[in-house]
Amino acid sequence: MTDLTNKVAIVTGGARGIGAAISKELASHGARVVVNYNSSKGPSEKLIMEIAEMGGDAYAVQADVSKSEEAQKLVNETINHFGRLDIVVNNAGITRDRTFKKLKEEDWKNVIDVNLNSVYNTTAAALPYLLESDSGRIINISSIIGQAGGFGQTNYSAAKAGMIGYTKSLALELAKSGVTVNAICPGFIDTAMVQEIPENIREQIVAKIPVRRFGQAEEIARGVIFLCKDGEYITGQQLNINGGLYM
Ligand code: NAD
Repeated sequence: MTDLTNKVAIVTGGARGIGAAISKELASHGARVVVNYNSSKGPSEKLIMEIAEMGGDAYAVQADVSKSEEAQKLVNETINHFGRLDIVVNNAGITRDRTFKKLKEEDWKNVIDVNLNSVYNTTAAALPYLLESDSGRIINISSIIGQAGGFGQTNYSAAKAGMIGYTKSLALELAKSGVTVNAICPGFIDTAMVQEIPENIREQIVAKIPVRRFGQAEEIARGVIFLCKDGEYITGQQLNINGGLYM
């Protein structure tokens, strides 16, 4: 088991929802956490204070990770502040759900940029430092929608499926270095993203989930801790945390 004390982690889009739960859980296991946000300045400041009150150490960095120069700035600020980097959680994501007939090119490009190109941008900037770590971890927050598809989600499912292919190929390339690369594929998790779905559709979704409830962000965060602490022989995998909705 790897102790996370003094390890340094970046969580992209880490100020709210699943990212905030991951940031808190990493901090509660002793990691020093860089909470990246794009526009969620208020929530990021609140989270940094909550983590400090728990006795943890976190630092907020504003960066739009869909832009390579800003992802590089995120990594540079991490190194300036904490001096090392061991864990990258690629969590930032958006949806722009529309059936394909109504989908605009802009909806396609924005979703690919934020969900998929950001993963390239952040990993490319972080890799030189991860290779210096004795237990580097890259964890990509993909989705059940990347595995099973989703109505009105061609853009999002393409991005999330892309993350899975990326995870496997990079895992092969980095295996010898000791850096592991894995994807977590959440099902439907009770955050702002799922709360945006109309109530009647939410009820239909819950009825199809074998455990009959949405997941909690903390349940995804615990998967991240498992991969960080006990995952030295786990690479290139998809960890499905979905209440049995996709097997
Ligand atoms: P959320 O909308 O609450 O959080 C997404 C975070 O990403 C926000 O903090 C947002 O500010 C940030 N973000 C967006 N664009 C960014 C950018 N360009 N640069 C930096 N940060 C940016 O949603 P969530 O439910 O917490 O989702 C977190 C991740 O989990 C996403 O990648 C999402 O696709 C994935 N996911 C969520 C669910 C779910 O049911 N909620 C299911 C499967 C996968």
